[in-house]
Amino acid sequence: MIIDLRSDTVTQPTTEMMEAIMQAKVGDDVYKEDETINALEEKIAQQFGKSHALFFPSGTMANQTAIKLHTNPGDQVICDKYAHIYNYEGGGASFNSGVSCKLIDGHRGMFTAQQVLEAINPPDFYHSPLTTLVEIENTTNKGGGACWDFNEILKIKQVCNDHKLGFHLDGARLWNALVAKNETTKQYGEAFDTISVCLSKGLGCPIGSVLVGDEQMMQHAIRIRKILGGGMRQAGFLAAAGLYALEHNIDRLTEDHKKAKELGIALSNASFTKKVEPIETNIVIFELNKKYTENTFLKLLSDKNIKIIGMGSNKLRLVTHLDYDDYQHFKVLDVINSL
Ligand SMILES: *Cc1c(COP(=O)(O)O)cnc(C)c1O
Repeated sequence: MIIDLRSDTVTQPTTEMMEAIMQAKVGDDVYKEDETINALEEKIAQQFGKSHALFFPSGTMANQTAIKLHTNPGDQVICDKYAHIYNYEGGGASFNSGVSCKLIDGHRGMFTAQQVLEAINPPDFYHSPLTTLVEIENTTNKGGGACWDFNEILKIKQVCNDHKLGFHLDGARLWNALVAKNETTKQYGEAFDTISVCLSKGLGCPIGSVLVGDEQMMQHAIRIRKILGGGMRQAGFLAAAGLYALEHNIDRLTEDHKKAKELGIALSNASFTKKVEPIETNIVIFELNKKYTENTFLKLLSDKNIKIIGMGSNKLRLVTHLDYDDYQHFKVLDVINSL
């Protein structure tokens, strides 16, 4: 048995989820005739208090669509230096939208409204790119699953309003933040113009992300999704998994968070760690001391059938998820204590 802690994207659909997929009523979603997709989009739009939601094959495509919605070529997007849209979407912001990113030197992927203010280019100074969008991530991926302070988000929203900037949330793991901080989809829906969420991370679906926003923006989003090749046909099989996950797999995220904290404690006590970053949700990032090099350490773990990944700068990452059960957890804790 392989214990895979590389990401929460590695989960397999459960028997119950497969049942839901098998039962799905489907149609051609490009004609908006897939009733399961329609039901999922309606449900998620309603949860966020937005008028519309749109299903996407990936979180990357949902984010890339959002960037395109809010910008024109030549514009600039303000985001953190750790942002997924900057680091992990293949340069899509420039490829698809022709925009550059102004990177904020934040803390664990998060920054302040004051830092946003300072990053905005003056619109009447024609030498600099026009700032049109602020993008944040909650939870932060490269920031180790950190959760934003919602009050700071509201302050940033004010800055965006004052300067007529779009405000997009990459909520790939937003449900982890909501569960950890006892927050609601509604309050996030009110704060942002657009939000992308992933069904294929902590929620355990095989495929799928959703973008929410107001009617005008989302009408445009359908066109952009089509251009990017994301107009799908009988996609209701995927939406059925999403509907199942919204019902059954949100509350249990606390279990992933608890296991992540326990891994963090074991790592803090281990002889090979220099530092473990604070753990708020399901991501654990830690640094090795001189005892093992990164490659030696990864090899030691893989010899025990445990997979984790390196994040660069000597940092390693573990992510807990639906398929990481109690038995695997005890085995991993055992291995950590033995190395
Ligand atoms: C996983 C992830 C995405 C989307 O990734 P896809 O693999 O394209 O679904 C977007 N943002 C963050 C922060 C992520 O962790």
